[in-house]
Amino acid sequence: SADVTWLDAWTEQEGADRVRGLFAGRFEAEPDGTWSAPGRVNLIGEHTDYNGGLCLPIALPHRTYVALRRRDDDVVRLVSAQEPTGVRTVDLAGVAPGTVDGWAGYVVGVAWALREAGHAVSGFDVAIDSCVPYGAGLSSSAALEASTAVALDAAFALGLAGSDEGRATLAALCVRAENEIAGAPTGGMDQAASLRSQGGHALLLDCLDGSVRHVPFDLAAHDLALLVVDTRAEHALVDGQYAARRASCEAAAARLGVATLREVSDDPRGLEWPLDKLDDEVQVRRVRHVVNEIDRVTWFVALLDAGEVGLVGTLMNASHASLRDDYEVSSRELDLVVDTARAAGAAGARMTGGGFGGSAIALVAADEVDRVAQSVADAFADAGLRPPAFLVATAAGPAA
Ligand code: ADP
Ligand code: MG
Repeated sequence: SADVTWLDAWTEQEGADRVRGLFAGRFEAEPDGTWSAPGRVNLIGEHTDYNGGLCLPIALPHRTYVALRRRDDDVVRLVSAQEPTGVRTVDLAGVAPGTVDGWAGYVVGVAWALREAGHAVSGFDVAIDSCVPYGAGLSSSAALEASTAVALDAAFALGLAGSDEGRATLAALCVRAENEIAGAPTGGMDQAASLRSQGGHALLLDCLDGSVRHVPFDLAAHDLALLVVDTRAEHALVDGQYAARRASCEAAAARLGVATLREVSDDPRGLEWPLDKLDDEVQVRRVRHVVNEIDRVTWFVALLDAGEVGLVGTLMNASHASLRDDYEVSSRELDLVVDTARAAGAAGARMTGGGFGGSAIALVAADEVDRVAQSVADAFADAGLRPPAFLVATAAGPAA
């Protein structure tokens, strides 16, 4: 049988020690402090954030750590253990869309967005290290932005990280950083999950008004576990496809005369009127996914509130089918994880994140985690696919 690779989270102490050591080695000084922020996995509510819908992520125990020291000039020096580029230097005063390439844009972009919003932030030295899987759909990008955001908040005494309102502001600025400086499209779920979650709770995020509700989420109490499978598949097409899905939703909303598809999902008349009104068959399926998916989030939360955690698997399965058939963002690898996990006894499974690769999740009995993971690893080996990687997700705490 195939080897099973587990991606374990570091302890807070381990992460802080690593990043402190990297900082001291590269910058020959002590940092002002260390901070960290989690990656996330979305339980349900996919491709709903940019439609003003609902989503339900949890923060992962896997975090990105930063050690940071403020400077009195406008120079930013950055180093990441994940990037072989060595120390990069950027003049903060010269940052604008299109001026910073590569990973540094995610970090410098946060400082830029804070300054754009009128906050007094100058240059800094920063060292980064992370155990969030890279490019796996578990939001290493938001973990990097959010850890930078709370570090800058503390180092420059901005006072935003102390309240949920301030954290919502930081999340919005992280979105600006990713969209405008890193040049990557993102809808806002990831940054909210990393900055506004609470340990032991899933984050019900209403993307229309930015409000949140913390929903108790403790699978262990029900002898269940959430298995996350990083397919490790390349997803070269993802950027263009993501933009195409957004454009399709916007076009459908315009045709229907609504600001966002959320209005359609809130309309008591149900799905017939919008679908009848659309003449584009692709838009019909995209809208059907978004509206049904928003409903599934509501049902998922109702089941959690009722203590019926074992029943959410049905909603996960329906979500996957909708993403595969109506939204067309799954992949061969994601479908294989989902089908194999279910055949091995998972209560439910679905792709998570944007799709076209990345990760899938399966709800499994706590004592069956190893067996289900082995089945998936074997199926990938049989199919001649690159070995996937596994982790077990619990609802961890936010950026701090
Ligand atoms: P995901 O967020 O799903 O992991 P993305 O493509 O959105 O995938 O973000 C991954 C990118 O974020 C990386 O290619 C890199 O540019 C940047 N990044 C994330 N984590 C780090 C890190 N620890 N150090 C440097 N860059 C990082
Ligand atoms: Mg990302």
